[in-house]
Amino acid sequence: MHEFAELSELMRLRRMFSGLGDVREEATISHKGLSFPILSFHFGVKDEKAPTLVFVAGVHGLEKIGTQILTSFLHSWTQLLKWDKSLQSTLKSSRVVFYPLVNPVGMYLNTRSNGNGVDLMRNGRVEAKGKTLPLIAGHRISPRLPWYRGKNGIEPEALALRTFIRDLCFRGAPSIVLDIHSGFGLKDSLWFPYAGSAEYFPEAARMLAIKQIFDKSFPHHTYNIEPQHLSYTTHGDLWDDLFLEFEASRSFHHHSGHFLPLCLEMGSWTWIKKNPRQMFSSLGLFNPILPHRVKRAERRHFLLFSFLLKLITSPEAWLELPAGRMRILTHHANQMWYKDR
Ligand SMILES: [Zn+2]
Repeated sequence: MHEFAELSELMRLRRMFSGLGDVREEATISHKGLSFPILSFHFGVKDEKAPTLVFVAGVHGLEKIGTQILTSFLHSWTQLLKWDKSLQSTLKSSRVVFYPLVNPVGMYLNTRSNGNGVDLMRNGRVEAKGKTLPLIAGHRISPRLPWYRGKNGIEPEALALRTFIRDLCFRGAPSIVLDIHSGFGLKDSLWFPYAGSAEYFPEAARMLAIKQIFDKSFPHHTYNIEPQHLSYTTHGDLWDDLFLEFEASRSFHHHSGHFLPLCLEMGSWTWIKKNPRQMFSSLGLFNPILPHRVKRAERRHFLLFSFLLKLITSPEAWLELPAGRMRILTHHANQMWYKDR
């Protein structure tokens, strides 16, 4: 096995969590004779119908900050789990799972794509509808260009993530996934599907309910909450793909689960504005280079993480809403996010 800073830290956490949580190796990815584990850290009840919160990072190897933030969050958990009664009680009725490094080979190589040159966030089966930007939206020209979709079906890292998500989120439990990225925009965004079209997202009313309680509870939060297509549309988005599969499985199995895959896109352009020399570093466009900015990025998002934890244990606030309220939310969600359709 080959290690680099982020993976070594996760391997160290794996040893620290023996007895506190369940650490699994979801897959092993091989690259030029080296092998890299994909790890997940499981906490809470075993019940597959229990509300579930999943944190994902490291889809794009260059975006190290996401993995670093989740690692730092896991470090806090090693302490909190020992004394924090409210966290302990949350975990008696829910599951919280971390999947902090989707693309270890990409992170080892300092590339956005995986070892085969494929962008895992363009590797899904969904074709975008409407206007898309050339290249950025995903293409099949060459793995030497960024945003390559791949030619040979699903990549092993995407398959591992898909299998993991199906297993946790497709069995009737309400679930929220937060997939952490960086590199786009000035502001922190919390995006929900769809990435591939401007169509109404079936859970948009619930997203608006979540936005409203977030805005009211933490009026100074910094997140721009909206469907991803308002920023740009892409082919092969893995979360669009999984969501559509979930919807199909829900009507087939008649279960009443809910699946909300969210993307945190950290607005990294401010890091460049504050430290323009970063432009000349290959990692600089995607990561805050100065150590105090890494720490600040970590601290900044802990509020969101604990808010999501509260959501998962308080379903009446966003999930079990009366029909009349859902009608109003649907109307407002249409007004707010889908006016230009
Ligand atoms: Zn990304």
